[in-house]
Amino acid sequence: MNPLTQIVRATRPIYRNLSTSATRSSAAKPIPTTGLCFELNDEQKALQDLARKFTREEIIPVAAQYDKSGEYPWPIIKKAWEVGLMNGHVPEHCGGIGNFGVFDECIVADEFAFGCSGICTAIGSSGLGQTPVIIAGNKEQQKKYLGRLIEEPLVAAYGVTEPGAGSDVAGIKTRAEKKGDEWILNGQKMWITNGGVANWYFVLARTNPDPKCPASKAFTGFIVEREWPGVVPGRKEQNMGQRASDTRGITFEDVRIPKENVLIGEGAGFKIAMGAFDKTRPPVAAGATGLAARALHEATKYSLERKTFGVPIAQHQAVAFMLADMAIGVESARLAWQKAAWMVDHGQKNTVMASVAKAYASEVANKAATDAVQVFGGNGFNTEYPVEKLMRDAKIYQIYEGTSQIQRLIISRELLIAAKQSA
Ligand SMILES: Cc1cc2nc3c(=O)[nH]c(=O)nc-3n(C[C@H](O)[C@H](O)[C@H](O)COP(=O)(O)OP(=O)(O)OC[C@H]3O[C@@H](n4cnc5c(N)ncnc54)[C@H](O)[C@@H]3O)c2cc1C
Repeated sequence: MNPLTQIVRATRPIYRNLSTSATRSSAAKPIPTTGLCFELNDEQKALQDLARKFTREEIIPVAAQYDKSGEYPWPIIKKAWEVGLMNGHVPEHCGGIGNFGVFDECIVADEFAFGCSGICTAIGSSGLGQTPVIIAGNKEQQKKYLGRLIEEPLVAAYGVTEPGAGSDVAGIKTRAEKKGDEWILNGQKMWITNGGVANWYFVLARTNPDPKCPASKAFTGFIVEREWPGVVPGRKEQNMGQRASDTRGITFEDVRIPKENVLIGEGAGFKIAMGAFDKTRPPVAAGATGLAARALHEATKYSLERKTFGVPIAQHQAVAFMLADMAIGVESARLAWQKAAWMVDHGQKNTVMASVAKAYASEVANKAATDAVQVFGGNGFNTEYPVEKLMRDAKIYQIYEGTSQIQRLIISRELLIAAKQSA
């Protein structure tokens, strides 16, 4: 093996694992069972190993091919489903194992996005679609719709954004009217990940037409099946990056929804739709961290191989410092998702921390990918090398599941409320 490659292989666990290190010296103190702990437990280590192996063997070899073709990665999804790397959060009464916390989902997302963040998003968005049913569904709804995803390798989707409203969720126009024991749904959604491939969707619709009605009462959340008459997904959108993921508009034309498919009750939808983000933003941050780790990995490897002025470019401080900055970003973004995920798993309100992690990790991913292209020089701009894909894939992290501006709105709002309360 090329000695430079050996160095890279040897250093890789260091920068992927500084904060989740599986290596312990024999003199190490026992892992504390209370207080702050930076060690994964045995199950989490096993999960990380499994996700890492899956990424290495199943995702990385086909990532460029899916990026080019834009095909939906069904074969990968089926394999991930078979080995239990999907739907780990589905409760036992629905046939799931029910032992995945948000932290566990993040471990998987961090690994998968190292391989391909488009494939990671295709898988993760099914979790986003399921989360409203997990947090607000009754036992029958959960058994029927989450159970289905355990029985077969199917995916769900989260349908909130519309052509006219994304950040301003309260501005959505899709409406549902009650007629007897049914609701009639009409409207249009946009940018729905898994829109063309999902078996069912979480859909947010306005059910109180009074413009003065507060958002907390004006909207209702529904489970809508893909095969119901009147559900019409649009064409697959041609996006800049994460091209393996399927993004579409969906039109609803007089779709009849039975009352059994309302989540909690009329008017509860806005809180459900927004509440889901406490659980789903940490995995998005973890995915962005995985992408940044890949940028660091590729840039480090290349910088040891590429020579200018008689030495590997890694020996030029300007290049080495770019690597150092990437490592700073990866380590701190990983700590941020870990805290956000840990908080929600331990019953703590994590809305602000989820926004901190999501905004920060997405910026780290974009900076790391851009710098990786820089380290590659002209080669970085070319599709034969892996880093231009990372740069294209990174951008969406600053947009979906709430833009970076919206994360700052959430953080600053909470900050100011707390400041006023303590004044
Ligand atoms: C690939 C992809 C996948 C997606 N997947 C899903 C999905 O599965 N389900 C789903 O429901 N949605 C999905 N979305 C939608 C995504 O969440 C929205 O695009 C995003 O929330 C932004 O909304 P918008 O596009 O309408 O932008 P706008 O809300 O129009 O914002 C435009 C710009 O204005 C800024 N802005 C808006 N309001 C403010 C403000 N108050 N203060 C400061 N700045 C502001 C924004 O930050 C942004 O920079 C997806 C989008 C994409 C592109």
